[in-house]
Amino acid sequence: MPQLQNRQVKLAARPVGAVKREDFSFETAEVGPLGEGEVLVKVSHLSLDPAMRGWMNAGRSYIPPVELGEVMRAGGAGTVVQSNHEAFREGDKVTGITGVQEYAAVKGERLQKVDASKVPLESYLGGLGMPGMTAYFGLLDVCDMKEGDTVVVSGAAGAVGSIAGQIARIKGGRVIGIAGGAEKCRWVVEELGFDACVDYKGEDVARRLRELCPDRINVYFDNVGGEILDICLAQIAFHGRIGICGAISQYNNTTPMKGPSNYMSLLVNRARMEGFVVFDYAKRYGEAVAAMAGWMAEGKLKVREYVVEGGVDAFPETLNKLFAGENTGKLVLKIGD
Ligand code: NAP
Repeated sequence: MPQLQNRQVKLAARPVGAVKREDFSFETAEVGPLGEGEVLVKVSHLSLDPAMRGWMNAGRSYIPPVELGEVMRAGGAGTVVQSNHEAFREGDKVTGITGVQEYAAVKGERLQKVDASKVPLESYLGGLGMPGMTAYFGLLDVCDMKEGDTVVVSGAAGAVGSIAGQIARIKGGRVIGIAGGAEKCRWVVEELGFDACVDYKGEDVARRLRELCPDRINVYFDNVGGEILDICLAQIAFHGRIGICGAISQYNNTTPMKGPSNYMSLLVNRARMEGFVVFDYAKRYGEAVAAMAGWMAEGKLKVREYVVEGGVDAFPETLNKLFAGENTGKLVLKIGD
């Protein structure tokens, strides 16, 4: 094989606030010889996730930070071009943690082979990938959502929220989304079948939720944290459940995160609030994929990817689209074929 050139994006500085180009170095290196048990993947799609912002910070979290000088961590999808692992052959479509680079040498055990003949490869980074798993287990396991529940989902037009809300509908809930802008709210209601959606950029969220949830909120699936979490806490129902999935409104803060002040509502209502990390459900992903693929085939579950075309060099600007709310559905950076 001719010597392959690998364009890579490495973390050069710990960002303060939103990421900037100067926080990264953009380098080209030759692809080295493949190690024992490794598979060389030509990466075509990168998953851009809000969590990436947290991985750039020093300090303790659920996963070690990306070190300065390291290739930026990212989920990715692509095609096997060389394999030293018996389970993979050239041409296989795979997903895994590839990093923000064009070629990734990954241990075979850490790759998943996927069937891209019926659904596009990028769907395995969205609805059939990590965000889909997050929505499924966060809603059904952590929030213990039941038929008849009034369910509120923030980040409703995003990767996780759009799926969580649809699953709640499928399971017999009344579902209210919260999203930024009239067009996103229209999509959530008209295309995804939510019962209603509150435009937090244009409406009084507390007042609209009181109108839409006269019997209060049984389940709040929280993707955004901040003020919206506080509003939902105040309106939680008796024995209500709040799943802390994420807090995107806080990730670019340059001052300490704003915590909820209405937490005594948990005591008054004998309610609970619980955080979770999707990776803890890895052994059960098969269960979620089977259920979700079935719903997709029946036309009950719609997944959407928001694909941005560009090379790996477009990574910083593309990541910032999440925080500007530019994406509807799962944000994916397409870096090759
Ligand atoms: P996403 O929702 O597809 O994209 C982010 C969306 O967040 C944006 O489109 C934007 O939509 C909204 N947003 C941005 N800034 C906001 C703000 N200040 N206030 C309110 N909304 C804001 O991203 P995702 O991948 O599905 O992730 C959603 C959440 O789930 C994130 O908090 C992420 O960290 C979390 N997550 C957690 C796990 C886990 O294991 N716990 C796994 C995956 C993801 P609008 O236009 O509506 O504002």
